[in-house]
Formats: sequence, C-alpha cells, structure tokens
Amino acid sequence: MSYYTHLECCECGRTHPTDRWLGVCSCGRSLFARYDLPRIRAEVRRESLMHRPPTMWRYREFMPLGRDEPVVTLGEGYTPLVPLGTVGPAGGLHRLFLKDEGRNPTGVFKARGASVGVSKARSLGVRRLIVPTVGSGGSAWAAYGARAGLEVAVTMPVSDAPMIARKDCVATGARVILIDGTTTDLFRMSQRAADRYGWTPIIALREPFRVEGKKTMGFELAEQFGWELPDVVLYPTGGGVGLIGMWKAFEELQAVGWIGSKRPRLVAVQAAGCAPVVRAFDAGADACEPWERMDTVVPGVKVAKAFADRLILKAIRATGGAAVAIEDAETLATQRRLALEEGLYISPEGAMTVAAGFRLRDGGAIKAHETIVAFNTAAGMRYPHLVRDDLPVVRAGDEIVLAESPRSDRVAPATG
Ligand SMILES: *Cc1c(COP(=O)(O)O)cnc(C)c1O
Repeated sequence: MSYYTHLECCECGRTHPTDRWLGVCSCGRSLFARYDLPRIRAEVRRESLMHRPPTMWRYREFMPLGRDEPVVTLGEGYTPLVPLGTVGPAGGLHRLFLKDEGRNPTGVFKARGASVGVSKARSLGVRRLIVPTVGSGGSAWAAYGARAGLEVAVTMPVSDAPMIARKDCVATGARVILIDGTTTDLFRMSQRAADRYGWTPIIALREPFRVEGKKTMGFELAEQFGWELPDVVLYPTGGGVGLIGMWKAFEELQAVGWIGSKRPRLVAVQAAGCAPVVRAFDAGADACEPWERMDTVVPGVKVAKAFADRLILKAIRATGGAAVAIEDAETLATQRRLALEEGLYISPEGAMTVAAGFRLRDGGAIKAHETIVAFNTAAGMRYPHLVRDDLPVVRAGDEIVLAESPRSDRVAPATG
C-alpha cells in the first residue's frame, strides 16, 4: 500500500505510471511524484511522527515507495538546527539557525536524494547508474549504490573534482572516470555513454526521485519549528533541487492540513563567479542564460544553467524571496568565523548562505528578529584544501612554545 499514485510533468501536466523508471516527460521536462494527499489528510496525523526514528524516512507517507519496497538507508536526514548565537547577533540577526546538513552520511546532503533514488532504482530493477557530478553527488550515489549492490559509475571534471569526492567514490567501489573538458562536455559525454551501454543517467531533475529526498528538508523545517515555517530560507543553489523540493514539500504539507499558507521567503545564494540564477533574477527573466566562465572555490554551485531554472525562479518570486551572489573572499572569511566563533567547521556553500543573510540584513530585506535558516549543505571536512595551515614542528626533547595566539586577542574576555 502506498499513497504514491503517479508521475506528473511540471510543464505539460501529462501523467505517467509508477511501475517503471522514467527520467523525464515525453515533452522533455521534469517529472514530479504525486500522492493521494486527500487520503493522507484523512488517515495520517502529524502527531504520529513523534515516535518514529529521527531520519528523513519518518515522512514515509510522502515518499514514492510502497510498504513492500525496502528502503536503502544510512540514517540520512533529520539534521539539527543549530542556533548561531554569537555570529548571528553580531551581524544583526537574532534568530539565525544553521540547518547542518553536513551531519548526513558521506558528509553531504546529497545523501537524501541518493537514498530515495537508489531505493527506487533497486525496486524497479535498474542495476547500473552513471552519475555525472561536479560537487559531491558522486560520493552519495556511490555509497548508497554500494549498500544496495548496484553498479555505479561517477564521471567528474579532471580539473576541479574535489579530492575527497574522488577518494570516497573509489572507496565505496564506484568506477570513477575523470573528464578532461567543461561541465557541458561532462554531461554530454555521460549521457552518450548511458545511451550506448544502457546505463541509467542520474542528473538533477532529469529523474524524479532525488527531489523527493531533498524535499524532506522542508518537512523537517516545518516539524522542527513546531509546524510554523521560518521567515527566510537561505539556500546555496546549483541545480536548485533543494529549493524546488522544499517548495513542493510546503505545498504538500498545506494540502494535508499540517501547515497554513505562510511560506518562507526562499533565497537562492550563488557564488559571484557562477551566478546564473542571480543574473536572471535581477534581469526579471524567466530562465537563465548559461554562465560562461565559472570561477569559484564553491563546487556545489558550479552549474552553468540549471535544467529546472524556470522552477527555481518561480519559487523565489512566488515567495517574495531573492537571489544573492557572494564573492569567494567573503565566503571564506565567513567560513573561518563560524569555525572560530561557533565551533562549526562548515562547507563554503554553507558559509556563503550565512554571508547572504548578513548582506540582506544590511540592505534591509531581513529584519533583526525574523527567523532565518541558512543551509549548510556539507561538512567542512570535505574541503581540506581551503584551510591554510603553516604548522611548527618541534623536535623530540625541545620545548613547545605556547605564544599568545591570534585567537585569544579576538575573543573578548567574559565580563560580569
Ligand atoms: C549539490 C550541492 C549543492 C546544490 O544543490 P542543489 O539542490 O542542486 O541546488 C549545494 N551544496 C553542496 C555541498 C552540494 O553538493
């Protein structure tokens, strides 16, 4: 038994059955999983969640799997909302929270989409996946693929594939193929290989299941804030799957009567060196122009033109949100501050969203006492190359010198 009824095209509205793997609609656009929401409304109470395990599968009724379809899980989701009690108020934001997705398996929130996608692939008899990726998508699909006994090939650009992503894909048994070319080459070549060998390509919003995993971030925000959504959500936007997923989650929650009509203002945050959504938003356009020369240390947002760009822009505008571009220098300075002053060693993607919160506060678009959620989409530990260290080595028998550290100058002594 399942509440999952069919797949529906986001553009032409055509419906498709659920009994086989389908990437996109016959018109070429993204497909969304649809549910019997009136029946969920009648049969499921939100209070029944209380006794369920703290993973994203606590929202099982809103997932595209039947009771007899086993879930491939590593305990993903239900990540904490950590208050930024020092850095927030210092920047004029008194209710600033970090949704710390770095606690997910593989240290990145791509685990959510991979858990649903791999579960669904296995139950529909899909055995071989090819995952073109610029950020950390490969790590998650490789890990869940290993758990499910599927074959996974990961393709990444040789120029800027993060070292950790390469290593953990290899460690979990994926075939890793490095592409000497642009990200456009990466996707085109992977699609060709998929067609030729009969492997299933896994590309954001060109399969309907990853977004179902990411939408659980929206369910969690609602539940963790007591079914009253925050005022603003700051989200590091690459393919935009998380933004679109949360937007979908809020619609579903309202349809079953678990939340009201209030929506957070959704803010797409990008790096100044790759900001196609910001450019389109500022120009009042409905779609993005491909970004020409990507230049940023933030890998998660390196998407020249999101496949679902129209949906991203629609979600931002419909909620009265915004799109903000942050320079790498500011992102890295914010990353350092969160580590030093909050003990949170987060990803540059996450730091970028916090910086965007302060930018909007300074410009008056966010008020001091509004409830703000910044998404940290990965653990800082996945980016060791961004930490500069120049460490002393002391020979055995010599004295260790503990000079006054720069940190103790910066932290004010407690008074009173
Ligand atoms: C993939 C990724 C993003 C972008 O996510 P979308 O939902 O596709 O926009 C952001 N941060 C990190 C660390 C990622 O791996």
